[in-house]
Amino acid sequence: MPETIYLDNNATTRVADEVIAAMTPYYRELYGNAHAIHRLGRSSHDAVEDARAELALLLGCSAGEVIFTSCGTEGNAMVLRGLVDRHPDRRRVVTTAVEHPSVLTLLRALEREGEIELVVVPVDTHGAIDLDAMRDAIGDRTLLVSVMLAQNETGVLHPVAEIAELAHARGAYVHVDAVQAAGKVPLAQHELGADFLTISGHKFHAPKGIGALAIRKGLALQPLWYGGGQELGMRSGTEPVPSIVGFAAAARLAREALAQYDRVRALRDRLEAAIAQRVDETTVNGATQPRLGNTANISFHDAYADEIVRALDAEGVCVSAGAACHSGNVEPSGTMKAMRLPLRVAMGAVRFSLSRYTTVEEIDRAIDVVCAVVPNLRQAVAP
Ligand code: PLP
Repeated sequence: MPETIYLDNNATTRVADEVIAAMTPYYRELYGNAHAIHRLGRSSHDAVEDARAELALLLGCSAGEVIFTSCGTEGNAMVLRGLVDRHPDRRRVVTTAVEHPSVLTLLRALEREGEIELVVVPVDTHGAIDLDAMRDAIGDRTLLVSVMLAQNETGVLHPVAEIAELAHARGAYVHVDAVQAAGKVPLAQHELGADFLTISGHKFHAPKGIGALAIRKGLALQPLWYGGGQELGMRSGTEPVPSIVGFAAAARLAREALAQYDRVRALRDRLEAAIAQRVDETTVNGATQPRLGNTANISFHDAYADEIVRALDAEGVCVSAGAACHSGNVEPSGTMKAMRLPLRVAMGAVRFSLSRYTTVEEIDRAIDVVCAVVPNLRQAVAP
């Protein structure tokens, strides 16, 4: 078995050792319900509030603005459904064509149900949002503009602060899906102009099943469900204290490591440069745009991404495909379609996503494997 080289960190990350160490006492000894009044309850409560303060530092907001959720998908749903339910007077929601399915699929469902009027703003072939179309789309009856900070497939960073200004000028709320950005670029909820900002722990070395939503002070959302009234009444359910503690440890590590993120960017650049030099007919999608330092979305022309992913996996290299098989047909991802890349380019889009634990040896081995594997997989790409 070849050694595993994990370059799929935009999908999920390994839990940091320090995170596991921070969590363990809250499983073994300090397992009280954070709302119980006895000593174990109080220690859990204090741990949750300390964690909230730590998350606020990562998010660039105050602790009172942070709510714990189970994941990015839940945070996004809380905002979208919660706002729509609360503001029946404003019906228009504006978003972009490259949002994560947790935003786009939900908004399309709300549109189908007649709850909202949806405007989806296009991007160009580089993944840049059409800002004129965005400006035209936002009107006086716009309830919300939902835009991601970093695109999960390409890593392209969107001009969120500029879009937030346009939205606020028309009285609309701004939701920022920062799930891919957290831990990779500095976040500042207030500077970004985000009224609501979503993150998810498993993207930056916290466990799966814990996330956060920053809600600007004074704003409220209709809860998705009712119960004990935890998390300011907006997210009932007993807090998963060990996960929250681990999330905070991961947030602190991520914040401290940001200063060295250029090391990750240099490794990503090394990968892109070597592949461009050693493999014919490739393009880096989104390369002209400001991008996350850890993401390389490389199209191998005239090849199927899922076949490349399987061939790389056989050699121990874990990456992901921008085209996937749906009911027997291979289709480019929604993002690749939105970028209107030619089919022979879109079908071969492979995402390599690094973490701060990625080493130069791993990158060099991945480069050699790509160079060995891809030439054997070229074929005519059929629609
Ligand atoms: N938003 C973006 C941009 C993502 O990349 C993801 C996950 O890949 C999500 C939301 C959903 O996050 P979660 O997996 O925590 O539900």
